[in-house]
Amino acid sequence: MIYEIDENAKARATGAGGWCLEHSYAQLPRLLHAAVGPTAVRAPRKVVWNRKLAEELGLDAAAWASADGAGAEIFSGNVLPPGAVPLAQAYAGHQYGHFTTLGDGRAILLGEQITPSGARFDVQLKGAGPTPYSRSGDGRATLGAMLREYVISEAMHAMGIPTTRSLAVVATGEDVWRQDGARPGAVLTRVAASHIRVGTFEWVAARRDEAALRALVDYTLQRHYAKLVGAENPALALLGAVIERQARLIAQWMGVGFVHGVMNTDNMALSGETIDYGPCAFMEAYDSATVFSSIDRDGRYAYGNQAQIAQWNLARLAEALLTVLHPQEEAAVALANEALGGFGERFQRHWLAGMRRKLGLFNEEPEDGALIEALLEWMQVAKADFTNTFAELETLGATEAGPGSESGSAKEFEVWRERWRARLGRQPQSAEEAGRLRQANCPAVIPRNHRVEAALAAAEQGNVSVLERLLAVLAAPYDYARPADVAEYRVPAPDGGEGYKTFCGT
Ligand code: AMP
Ligand code: MG
Repeated sequence: MIYEIDENAKARATGAGGWCLEHSYAQLPRLLHAAVGPTAVRAPRKVVWNRKLAEELGLDAAAWASADGAGAEIFSGNVLPPGAVPLAQAYAGHQYGHFTTLGDGRAILLGEQITPSGARFDVQLKGAGPTPYSRSGDGRATLGAMLREYVISEAMHAMGIPTTRSLAVVATGEDVWRQDGARPGAVLTRVAASHIRVGTFEWVAARRDEAALRALVDYTLQRHYAKLVGAENPALALLGAVIERQARLIAQWMGVGFVHGVMNTDNMALSGETIDYGPCAFMEAYDSATVFSSIDRDGRYAYGNQAQIAQWNLARLAEALLTVLHPQEEAAVALANEALGGFGERFQRHWLAGMRRKLGLFNEEPEDGALIEALLEWMQVAKADFTNTFAELETLGATEAGPGSESGSAKEFEVWRERWRARLGRQPQSAEEAGRLRQANCPAVIPRNHRVEAALAAAEQGNVSVLERLLAVLAAPYDYARPADVAEYRVPAPDGGEGYKTFCGT
């Protein structure tokens, strides 16, 4: 079946406000979605909104300037934009290793916005009220959690890491009840290449609907891997392409110290975008066992486990695809295993390439991996700040590197630095060129946890200026030319972030 996905759509029938919504996902078999609209809220007020992204989407930003005007009405779900046909998506997923039936319990897709350049993006309201998949949940979200997703997702985008985007956060004027009592409610408008998850495939496979599974494979290829449409074995082509994108994505996370925190299979997107910012956070003092999520007691989703977990999740995708990989199960399993077996090497290649760039290395030497490992080992012992160590490799006085720096550690760092300098000397590029490569790959600023928390706390009290300033700083993470401006945002948490916890499901 050919869906109406014309990525080169020329005729763009634009409605009021620049909306140009299509609904290709709604053409997929019925088991994948349920028609449901947002539930109106009492007093919507815009908290933050992404003018630049709106413009990229072709939306008419000017109309939404006021805090309680048309923008607040649309991005709270009170008023549907022209052409919206809202739905919730069905999916399953392995949560902490256990299979569960899920679905959008609090998110509602308005449609797919076709941008002026012909690209297609889901526009989804998160926290927009109950759906047929809400189970016992209230369908709502807290202002703090939605602002957190806004800040971190936009920071990831600015760092050049594939991610869903955040268009707006609107406070609902209603309280939501969580473990810690009443919290202000909010709706986040999320923009994504799509919301197709590993769990979407698991859901269809669990229903044993092979026709629907084939339709979903074709649809996903058309939407995200157009070059592979017409492949001899579409499911195998899809699996291989997703493995490659995930290997690259996780390597990018590792390169900036990002800990996703809840890498359940329902939180892994087939597009290769980072999705579902719940208990995620950036590591400060380097420790590969870093975990922030309060519920991740065993460290399943720790920083250093992320590649392995991604591969585990991809194995669940492969399992879901088995019946369409090959008519004979044994042959299907062999194809799946062969594809999955390539993940480790792909991840390692992306990781090494990324780390070389962070060290200013243009060419390759066999010992580069060991050089990087030696730095990480030193950072782990010295409890050195991950971001600042890479950003300041050239100038770092090792004792400033981290609060836990132990005696002897400065000397060890100098030994490493000499080794690194010798390595730099063996490439044709100049020191200036190496420096530029490093700065383009080592963020000067990341969303430090204490900064994010302060911005969210102020916003909850009605003061958005701290948040706006943080967003402005995070919008240019590789800009080293404004040190005075951002100096305070580069300072690690006093205790290296040790003991910082994030809370899920809010
Ligand atoms: P997450 O941990 O955010 O990936 O969510 C896991 C599942 O729980 C998804 O199916 C969500 O839609 C659902 N969910 C999370 N919070 C709520 C809520 N407040 N009401 C209804 N469903 C929710
Ligand atoms: Mg999720």
